[in-house]
Amino acid sequence: MARRRQIYEGKAKVLFEGPEPGTLVQYFKDDATAFNNKKKGVITGKGVINNRISEYLMTRLGEIGVPTHFVRRLNMREQLVREVEIIPVEIVVRNIAAGTFSQRFGMAEGTQLPRSIVEYYYKSDELGDPMVSEEHVTAFGWATTQDLDDIMSMALRVNDFLTGLFLGVGLRLIDFKLEFGRLWQNDEMRIVLADEISPDCCRLWDTKTNEKLDKDRFRRDLGQVEEAYQEVARRLGILPEGGPGDVKGPKTLQ
Ligand code: UDP
Repeated sequence: MARRRQIYEGKAKVLFEGPEPGTLVQYFKDDATAFNNKKKGVITGKGVINNRISEYLMTRLGEIGVPTHFVRRLNMREQLVREVEIIPVEIVVRNIAAGTFSQRFGMAEGTQLPRSIVEYYYKSDELGDPMVSEEHVTAFGWATTQDLDDIMSMALRVNDFLTGLFLGVGLRLIDFKLEFGRLWQNDEMRIVLADEISPDCCRLWDTKTNEKLDKDRFRRDLGQVEEAYQEVARRLGILPEGGPGDVKGPKTLQ
C-alpha cells in the first residue's frame, strides 16, 4: 500500500490523509512534552493506551449524544476521525484546583472549587497558549458567541458524564482540556468534540489515596509513568487483565 500523506505532526499525534474524503487517520505517538515543549520524553506504550482510552471515552460520549469527530479505531495506534476545522481555543474545565490554576490563585492543590470553572486558552505554541476571555475569542473571530454557547454546554455535559464515569472506577476528575472543531456537511456546520481525551489532557487522582494517575507523573518526575496510564486503562476495563482476550469491561467499585 502506498504510504499515506502526512497532513500534520503535533507533539503527541500525527494526522494522515484518511481513506475517504473528509476523513483523517490520527496516529498516537509515545512522545510526551510538558511546560510548552521545554520538557520532552517518551512514555513507552502511551500511544497505544491513549488510542484505546480516547476511543472508549469518545464512544461513550457519542452514546449520550455528544457529537465527536471519532469514527472508529483502526489498529493499536491509529483511529479514523472526521476531518474538522479545529477551533484554535483550548477549553479547560476544572473541578478541583491544581496545576497553573493553583499557582495563579494561591490555592492548595486539591481544593474543591465552588462550581466547575471553564477557561479558554488560545492555541499557540509560540505564545505558550495564553489564557483568553470570550471577548478575545469573539473579537478575533475564532468562534462566535453562539459557537461558545454550544461549546460551553457540551464541555459541561462532558464534565458531568466523565466525572461520574471516572468516579465509578475510583478516579477523581480534577480538570481536563478539550478541543472542538467545525464539521461541514452539505453546507451545514456543526461543532463537534475533536482531538483526544486521555491521561495526557486530564488530571485523574485515585479517590482513596489521591495518587496521581496522569501526565503530572511525567511533568513532575514522579516515576511509574507508564504504569499510571496502564492503570487508568485497566480500571476502565479496556486493557486485558489476564492477557489478550480477557477484556471484562469497567471495574465498577462496590
Ligand atoms: N492541559 C492540556 N494541554 C495544555 C494545557 C493544559 O491538556 O496545553 C490540561 C492539563 O493536562 C490539565 C488541564 O488541562 O488536565 C489544566 O492544566 P493547567 O492549566 O493546570 O496547566 P498545566 O499545569 O498542565 O501546565
